Amino acid sequence: MLCPYCGFDDSKVIDSRHFDLKIRRRRECTKCEKRFTTFESIETEMPELLVNKKDNTFERFNRAKLIQSMSIAVKKRPVSIMDINSIVDEIESYCSANMMSHITSAQIGEMVLDSLKKLDPVAYIRFASVYHDFSDAESFISLINELDV
Ligand SMILES: [Zn+2]
Repeated sequence: MLCPYCGFDDSKVIDSRHFDLKIRRRRECTKCEKRFTTFESIETEMPELLVNKKDNTFERFNRAKLIQSMSIAVKKRPVSIMDINSIVDEIESYCSANMMSHITSAQIGEMVLDSLKKLDPVAYIRFASVYHDFSDAESFISLINELDV
């Protein structure tokens, strides 16, 4: 917190008061001893999560988009929107727990596949076939063979 008078970066807090989601602090610069007021947010702001795509461009992590792509895979399968939401929650909390500012689309794909594999083999195969973009039947069959179903 820089002093607005002299730019010094150390100040002591004289008084703190909460206003809704903000804290109002009276501070005194330890250098010039002038007093100033700051308002700080209480909520911990999540760093923006970026997705590093295959073509090496970045885009903002888009929850709705991921949910939509999974919805197609789980169509008419016993996987609920709650299940899908919790998979996305897991990915988000994994990233925030590890203080990640970006994740690759490949990592997201693998995490989704891991979760779907446990939930429903058909949804898993559907998602995998879109995700891996199989160009030959052989690799698709080998993926199915890996499944213990
Ligand atoms: Zn100062």
